[in-house]
Amino acid sequence: RQAVYAALREVQPVSRDGERIKVMINAGLREDITNLSLTGADGIGLFRTEFQFLVSATLPQRERQTRLYRDVLDAAGDKPVMFRTVDIGGDKTLPYLRHDDGEGEENPAMGWRALRVALERDGLLKAQARALLEAAGGRTLNVMFPMVAEPWEFDAAKAVFDSQLAYLKTQKKVLPEAIRYGVMLEVPALAEQLDLLAPKISFLSIGTNDLTQFLFAADRSNPKLAERYDWLSPAILRFLRRVLRNVEGQDVDVGVCGEMGGRRLEALALLGLGIRRLSITPASVGPIKEIIGKVDISEISAAMEGWLANPPENMRATLAGWAAEREI
Ligand code: PEP
Ligand code: MG
Repeated sequence: RQAVYAALREVQPVSRDGERIKVMINAGLREDITNLSLTGADGIGLFRTEFQFLVSATLPQRERQTRLYRDVLDAAGDKPVMFRTVDIGGDKTLPYLRHDDGEGEENPAMGWRALRVALERDGLLKAQARALLEAAGGRTLNVMFPMVAEPWEFDAAKAVFDSQLAYLKTQKKVLPEAIRYGVMLEVPALAEQLDLLAPKISFLSIGTNDLTQFLFAADRSNPKLAERYDWLSPAILRFLRRVLRNVEGQDVDVGVCGEMGGRRLEALALLGLGIRRLSITPASVGPIKEIIGKVDISEISAAMEGWLANPPENMRATLAGWAAEREI
């Protein structure tokens, strides 16, 4: 199978009925960049910038951040890289970034993390914004914010970028040719306000890892719950369908960057819902490309519509049977 996947490296992911699907990879460290050429992926759909912070003993200075982002963009060449601003705090604690009260949290996943930290310690976001804007001088910057729950949080984060951009202008620095802003959809509350946010963003990246933990109220890091709920539950699939409907007709590029997209049946379900961009772990690129080449998107879409209107008792088994019948 490895040989089959290697052969797929040069093959574009196109469905049997001719739909070009974007298959991107998730990354976070300089060493991950080689995975782009190894997999032949369409770009980096999620660059987790907090990795640099997690592997550093001290807060990475702005120059070090700039260097990393520039190296990643250089290596990616024409392929897009979607940078996510830091998702630290909560369970990803940093010894050099302490809570004001010095205490741990009872519910870190729902606590002081990600954009909540970055907006409060705004020196952090300012430095990161400047690093990203400088690194992307003369090219396109794709940047997204994690754990956005309310549209104003996006506005506040973008304002930090705007002010850094204005500063760089006064310094006569080379600015990005274009800036595309996006948000991670991982807090259910945001899903109900997407119509308000859509005009302001270029892309949306659905983080199914956090999103499902919040939808099921099930801690994603608790092994006792790992098998309890299924990504192929009508709850998740109907929710995702509603998300897509909430941005329908708006010029927003919607993708999935959680682990769900890298699994065979889950990827099929996502295609059936209308997702056309997946950002996945590099090892899944070959298997997912193979599936895309075998599926008829119009057929899975019609099947999905039926299943969501009238859910089978076991969605996973039904979908597996459907795929097996078609030798997918
Ligand atoms: C997610 O929540 O699905 C996601 C992609 O982000 P992370 O796994 O880094 O929280
Ligand atoms: Mg997340």
